Amino acid sequence: MSIPENLSVILARIAAARKAAFNPAPLTRLVAVSKTVDEAGIAQALEAGQRLFGENRVQEAEAKFPALKRDYPDLELHLIGPLQTNKVKEAAALFDCIQTLDRIRLADALALARDKSGKCPQLLVQVNTGEEEQKAGVMPVGTAALIAHARKLDLPVAGLMCIPPAAQDPAPHFGFLAKLARDNGLSELSMGMSGDFEMAIRFGATYVRVGTAIFGSRS
Ligand SMILES: *Cc1c(COP(=O)(O)O)cnc(C)c1O
Repeated sequence: MSIPENLSVILARIAAARKAAFNPAPLTRLVAVSKTVDEAGIAQALEAGQRLFGENRVQEAEAKFPALKRDYPDLELHLIGPLQTNKVKEAAALFDCIQTLDRIRLADALALARDKSGKCPQLLVQVNTGEEEQKAGVMPVGTAALIAHARKLDLPVAGLMCIPPAAQDPAPHFGFLAKLARDNGLSELSMGMSGDFEMAIRFGATYVRVGTAIFGSRS
């Protein structure tokens, strides 16, 4: 199937999952994850009406998106991969939302960049719900302190994001993230990918991040 066909299937599945959910979020937005996808593929999605995209590397996004943003001023770009503190300035200039705030030092760097440029993207705190050694994200036990630190700096923290362990049932992770967001007074929840976004919607996802099911396998 083509990218436009895939997109309309995913949008229909999101709508159906929301309808079936007992308590869905007021809005669930599709983040089309375009990492490794070239500009032609992204342009097909844009022509089909998709405006919200996710990239996991600052450099790759910098190569692809400035030109697309000029052609589509309402294009919205989210960073969904780890952010090094030395890339904060570039990331803050390019992305509308950074979904991967996961440590105090990064919050400090974002505040510094904001103080110099006068603007800061919306932020989500990435939580390592599976407490996996190799994975990015703040540990659950440190989440409240990181949120408090970011709020003290007046950073625009809007919600939480997670990537559950690949080999586990994602449902408990989604439920846990939703509770953590509620407990911390946050409304945005970025969770669910190609294989489990309907489950995430059942737990209140406001953003689902879908790559393969739209653009095909990255191989
Ligand atoms: C690649 C990626 C996705 C999309 O995964 P698919 O399985 O291709 O839908 C979602 N979230 C993050 C953080 C990713 O890196």
